[in-house]
Amino acid sequence: MSAAVWSGKAASRAVRAEVCARVDALADRGAPPSLRVVRVGDDASAAGYARAVLRAARRVGVRAHLDALDADSDTDAVVAHVRDLNADASVQGIVLALPLADGVNDAEVIDAIDPAKDVDRVTASALGELFAGRSALGPATAAAVVELLDFHGEPIEGRRVVIVGRSNVVGKPLAMLLLARHGTVTLCHSRTPCLAGQTSRAEILVAAAGRPGLIGAAHVGPGAVVIDVGTTYAAGKVLGDVDAAAAAERARALTPVPGGVGPLTNYCLMRNLAALAERRVPACETA
Ligand code: NAP
Repeated sequence: MSAAVWSGKAASRAVRAEVCARVDALADRGAPPSLRVVRVGDDASAAGYARAVLRAARRVGVRAHLDALDADSDTDAVVAHVRDLNADASVQGIVLALPLADGVNDAEVIDAIDPAKDVDRVTASALGELFAGRSALGPATAAAVVELLDFHGEPIEGRRVVIVGRSNVVGKPLAMLLLARHGTVTLCHSRTPCLAGQTSRAEILVAAAGRPGLIGAAHVGPGAVVIDVGTTYAAGKVLGDVDAAAAAERARALTPVPGGVGPLTNYCLMRNLAALAERRVPACETA
């Protein structure tokens, strides 16, 4: 079998068009959403993420601004900055470009974000809403995986889904999003014995471990859909978790890295921003 390659580009164009329309509708109602991206210091991956978010914001017509704080800012100073943004009625969304600087406690800053402005749904409160089934909004990367499946018409209900990775930003919230869609979900992690025994049973396999090449032919069942979330930067390249050539022999479809989940993620982030802004304009509310 040679797998179909599910690029994220067409799906990201569709999400972008949907978000543009929602942002326009908010602007027509006098409530255009605006976003602040908070970065501390000069970590290269945080800077790259901030640039990508600002670019996606521009492309959907969202006013977005980078708040670049000094590398020597401490946790209290960053928390105080986030609280100022919470109190600023002209700001509807706050995103942190992680990692923050050395000496800043990321978790404390994350939980300082007002959940109503938590665009990437990373606060304990936003995750709690998702886990309790009180909100359908999930972190952008997890939402992008569901979006890709939907875009390609892949049913989720009743399917055996195996996710490799149990982080709070990808694996766990993705499990909740798929469970809400009635998938039968298994989470694997670094202490899972015989990983291939679990993953090869999957009809939908999601790799989100950040370990290049972790998923080989033996990990993929015949006819599976394989979504590769992994992005590891090495020697000037971006590497996924899946050995694509090996997996393609058994999978029905797989996503490339780069160009699969990645392009969709920041438009899903903008969709979360639109949804949070709509909650403040009740007649607009859709999520
Ligand atoms: P993370 O916090 O480091 O979590 C990695 C998870 O993978 C952990 O649960 C870990 O298990 C598990 N794991 C590690 N090695 C494993 C192994 N050998 N076998 C089975 N499980 C293993 O990473 P993350 O933030 O979730 O990100 C995961 C990947 O997605 C990274 O490559 C990241 O760069 C990428 N990512 C991509 C996007 C995007 O937009 N495309 C966005 C976010 C993240 P334990 O819990 O037992 O340690």
